Amino acid sequence: MAREKKLTPMMQQYFEVRKTLPANTLLLFRLGDFYEMFHEDAVVGAQVLGITLTKRSDYQMAGIPFHAAEQYIGKVLKVGMKVAICEQVETPQAGKLVKRALTRILTPGTTIEDNQLDSQRNHYLAAIEFDKSGFSLAWIDLSTGEFRIAHDPNPDDLLPALVSIDPAELLLIEGTQESWRNNSHHNTVYEELIHFANSRSTSELPGFQFDCDAGAQAVMETLGVINLEGFGLDKTHDALGCAGALLHYANETLCSKPENLSSIREYSSKASLLIDPATLRNLEIFKSTRGLREGSLIEAINGCKTAAGARLLEQWLIAPERNIPELNRRLDSVEQFYKNPMAATELQSTLKSVRDIQRILSRMQNRLRNPRELGGVRDTLAQIPEIRATLQEVEGNALEELSQRLHTLPALTELLDRALKEELPSKLDDGGYIATGYDPELDRMLSLTTDNKVWLADLESTERERTGIKNLKVKYNGAFGYFIEVTKSNLANVPENYIRKQTTVNAERFITDDLKIKEKEIFHAEENSKRREEELFQGLIEAVLEESVALKETASALAELDVFCGWSEIARRWDYAKPELDDSDKIEIDQGRHPVVEQMLRKDNQGLAGTHAFVPNGIDISASENQIHLITGPNMAGKSTFIRQVALITLMAQVGCWVPAASAKIGVVDRIFSRVGASDDLARGNSTFMVEMNETANILNNATERSLIILDEIGRGTSTYDGLSIAWSVIEHLHRDSNAGPKTLFATHYQELTQLDKHLNRLENYSVAVKEWNDDIVFVRQVVKGAADRSYGIQVARLAGLPTPVIDRAKEILERLESDDASVTVSSPTPVAKPRKKIKVETDDNQLGLF
Ligand code: ADP
Repeated sequence: MAREKKLTPMMQQYFEVRKTLPANTLLLFRLGDFYEMFHEDAVVGAQVLGITLTKRSDYQMAGIPFHAAEQYIGKVLKVGMKVAICEQVETPQAGKLVKRALTRILTPGTTIEDNQLDSQRNHYLAAIEFDKSGFSLAWIDLSTGEFRIAHDPNPDDLLPALVSIDPAELLLIEGTQESWRNNSHHNTVYEELIHFANSRSTSELPGFQFDCDAGAQAVMETLGVINLEGFGLDKTHDALGCAGALLHYANETLCSKPENLSSIREYSSKASLLIDPATLRNLEIFKSTRGLREGSLIEAINGCKTAAGARLLEQWLIAPERNIPELNRRLDSVEQFYKNPMAATELQSTLKSVRDIQRILSRMQNRLRNPRELGGVRDTLAQIPEIRATLQEVEGNALEELSQRLHTLPALTELLDRALKEELPSKLDDGGYIATGYDPELDRMLSLTTDNKVWLADLESTERERTGIKNLKVKYNGAFGYFIEVTKSNLANVPENYIRKQTTVNAERFITDDLKIKEKEIFHAEENSKRREEELFQGLIEAVLEESVALKETASALAELDVFCGWSEIARRWDYAKPELDDSDKIEIDQGRHPVVEQMLRKDNQGLAGTHAFVPNGIDISASENQIHLITGPNMAGKSTFIRQVALITLMAQVGCWVPAASAKIGVVDRIFSRVGASDDLARGNSTFMVEMNETANILNNATERSLIILDEIGRGTSTYDGLSIAWSVIEHLHRDSNAGPKTLFATHYQELTQLDKHLNRLENYSVAVKEWNDDIVFVRQVVKGAADRSYGIQVARLAGLPTPVIDRAKEILERLESDDASVTVSSPTPVAKPRKKIKVETDDNQLGLF
């Protein structure tokens, strides 16, 4: 208290604002041309931003120039902190404390500012509630207005969506993380959630903010509706509490109601192809295992020219479909461009000059406005007639409906054309963006300024002539405005009407009455014209916002066009086929390839056509006939690649993309599961084996007859006997006693499992062929019917560069073991532990009772 007594009025103002802020927030306090941080904020800010900390007598401060604030703010957000901005909200007057107000809190999940966003990706804020009724989830992208909710009694069904949207920020009810930790013991859902929350900016909020009734009310108010039926939602939807929490948070951070939200959509796990988080990682859909976009599926199938297109592609991959008509619409649209490559190329080059209307509009609606973005709307609208004309040249009707959604808006186009200059500034303050001739009043004000400026420019020469002082100068500074400067040696020639203002080392500075009158006129006219320009600007913004529905529809149609054109180009370049989708329980692929590996091989072998090209492989699998394909073959033969490619082709077909194959018939699947490789998960404190068993449990508990499962080397994380037994019983469980089961591709190095085909009628053996050549093996990468006869481990080890003596010794041991002679001679100097006897699995029912 003692300290507070000494506070200056400005510091009191500072603390008033400071105390309202959420935790983990830096307050940027506007002081003239700087944003200042004080006290603790200054210490933290100086460290995060690498700027100087200034120590005053009773406090510390650190500041950043306001015009460079954006890049500094980006740095703070990157470390997961929030930034509150307190602006001066009136023109400062000498001797009076200027009014200030909180205008914005920037947080990782609520930024809408262009330079804080990745243009190619959606930027989500998500809220989760997890209670007895199940799992509720809501997510919002404030930069585009996308708003979705979902509820499912089974958390496993919603986790895929949550992990795929990869929100920048997460909101939870107070105490949630602790309860997850307490429940995490052997529960993969909680473990996944804890990891998820730890890897992004997460805030816990009071429970009342998640109240469902209040949430429903807030959603209706924000969307300006009196019920939610128009969106197919009931007022008692369990996830409305989460939606309410998002809106509350958005309100707080935008310091006003979000104005760009016009609809809310339910996400239903029933309508989507679900891919659990482990499979998303294993199949490298959004990121490669190294965490990069390079090497991921999304990169391999992204041919988009616009940011909105790239974001739509991501949204489609987040929620792959099971709705055949919608998928056919996409596949047919791609086909139209596939058949008209000229039109696709033309459109793609037009799309390059289209701007990101979704985000521009959202910013405009939320009061972030600038002339350049307004010009973006103009430039985009200018392209629409041409795009529609090109679409008309494309035969077929899949694109007709899409073309209807492209609005030309002639009146708005004409208005913006007439009103705006060609080149536009990015800041409103800069002025000079309204075209000459649009507004006579503005033109008059501007010409007044121009005339006066000409007078000023001429003044130097007229005064030099009049006084005979050759080096007389007319200058300007902030303190006096315009003045005339005469060096000391010429003072004798100064005329009478010059009024002395200041003396410097070498010169004297003067003003004249005329000069001051002109100066006032200039300032006045400049101020007026600026104000007038801003008025006109607001008028134009309103005209744009009046068409926001049509503009949003246009933007979404443009994004779709972009995805389709991109896909058609990829399909041509990589020789993809249009998959046929149906409701059958089959997947038939002829000459399929792995979309990512194929592209990488081509990149690695440019110019070496044929030598290392990807070898295509087909599959014909059905839930009711040959449900399980057991695939054997040596390490490195290509087993993983093959089973992944089947999963990826199925997924691609279910987002509506053509697929790397000669042909493909896909009976739509409800889920894709995978257990691939020995991905260590030590970061989460789990042993490889635990992860593997968790993932396997998830598969066995959730797979249905409509699912596709790929399993690779299951049981490898434990002893051979344990591993083999587990693999064996997993296969039996998947096979079930009924007439059908999940389609399963099972790659294994356990030769013993190949005998299962004798007992399980829907299991077939396949292998990836290799050729033996002398003592070496050659990978031919072909999947063939029948089991592999040997594992070729030693040959592969030689290829990997193991020293020859080690290889020779291994061969010797193998020979002994194969001859069933357990007494392998120990060769000095390194003693070899007595190896276990070769595993022999009896397949006679009566002997081991395995069947
Ligand atoms: P496995 O699972 O049998 O150990 P992988 O599937 O990991 O083998 O394949 C090993 C390597 O072989 C891959 O990295 C890939 O480069 C190459 N490869 C796999 N399948 C093919 C194929 N069909 N055509 C060409 N190269 C392939």
